[in-house]
Amino acid sequence: MNILDSELIQNQLLSSGYEFVDQAEKANIVLYNTCSVRDLSEQKVLSRLGVLKKRKDQGEKLVVGLLGCMAERTNTDILEKNPHIDLLVGPSRLGEIGGLLHNLRGERKIALSDFRTRKGKSLEHEPMDSLEALDAARLTGSKALKSQAYIRITRGCNKFCSFCVVPRTRGPEVHRSFESILNEAKSLVDSGVLEITLLGQTINHYPEFAKLLREIHDQNPGLKRLRFMTSYPRDFTDEALDVMASSERICKYLHIPAQSGSDQILRRMNRGYTREQYLDLIRRARERMPNISIVGDMIVGFPGETEEDFEASLSLIREVRYQNIFVFKYSPRPGTVADKRELDDIPMEIKKLRNNRMLECQNEVSLAEHQKAIGSRLSVLVEGYAKIGSKLQARTQGDQIVLLEGPISLIGQLVEVQITQASALSLTGMLSSGLPPEALA
Ligand code: SAH
Repeated sequence: MNILDSELIQNQLLSSGYEFVDQAEKANIVLYNTCSVRDLSEQKVLSRLGVLKKRKDQGEKLVVGLLGCMAERTNTDILEKNPHIDLLVGPSRLGEIGGLLHNLRGERKIALSDFRTRKGKSLEHEPMDSLEALDAARLTGSKALKSQAYIRITRGCNKFCSFCVVPRTRGPEVHRSFESILNEAKSLVDSGVLEITLLGQTINHYPEFAKLLREIHDQNPGLKRLRFMTSYPRDFTDEALDVMASSERICKYLHIPAQSGSDQILRRMNRGYTREQYLDLIRRARERMPNISIVGDMIVGFPGETEEDFEASLSLIREVRYQNIFVFKYSPRPGTVADKRELDDIPMEIKKLRNNRMLECQNEVSLAEHQKAIGSRLSVLVEGYAKIGSKLQARTQGDQIVLLEGPISLIGQLVEVQITQASALSLTGMLSSGLPPEALA
């Protein structure tokens, strides 16, 4: 979500005539788009703000902006210790940054946030329009389009998971119109985008989600891959699963966080489902799509998590056989129910230990699953160079990483590879049909 927001902000500013530089040190305006999900993310931003403060103290003319969830969460309180911040913009007002920067002069500071607590004002309209403008900005922005793109279909979240700050920073759930989503998809595909990922905090809550998937798929034959994230384990309809199964170009991929495998922890997280109900959804998905990739999020060290609760999460991982999981050490967030009602009683050392044990458990599952792919032929989208070594990095429709040798011209293309090797983190393959004609041209 933040990657998309940053991209849209960039487009907005480019179309207002701003130029971008590749290092913060060279910039006259530095904007941080922030995340509040864990304390660690906020600490990183604070330390970078410290560096900017030094520059300003030394007399450099610099505009400093704090954007996104942290601006919303801390609001003007953050100015007490960070008076060098000139601009604070919460996630609901990101569409207004161009104008705000323009109006920023001299000593005046601007803080624009908080559609939830702003008193006496109706929430829905203003921020919505501002965001609709932001989402639409990409279509007029001059930044060259890539082969992959995100489209936001829902903003905010109506779930109140006891650990999570998102509903407080991104506000209540608001769905974008069918029409604006379909228009955005069409113009992206027309400009050469091959893969679209639809975004929402609880994406399956979009009204008539199955119909939306089918229409984007059917109206855009040029779209090679359609995926979406993040799904909420409840309210996932059979109809949506059927559309996924029957539409060839919809990725057989579900990012569907369990957070824990223990019923008593799930209850205290206010997740609204049991382990068995979660597993039932996975079964319904696999009945229709035996090869579907399931990706999850897990939290370790939630208050009161016993060794037994933790073991239940490990056994869920083995039972679901995730393609990948994201593991988070519980971090108390101000204002959340868990922070008010529970004691953060699992010591950091135990959290770290459980984090590592969980990753090891997932690695075993991933390695076994990846080994099954050796010898098979898969279609992959080449994304760029791998972080280490000289190979290209590509992804399968199930979001597995595939490393392969090939020319730079393959970047942004779909190619067929024969899988030759597997590790827990990635697959290695070779082009199975020679170079595609576009790459030779
Ligand atoms: N609705 C989104 C949530 C975004 S936050 C989703 O379902 O993916 C992404 C992940 O961060 C969550 O799934 C959760 O695993 C993790 N997370 C959220 N709050 C957390 C906290 N207080 N401590 C640790 N991890 C947290």
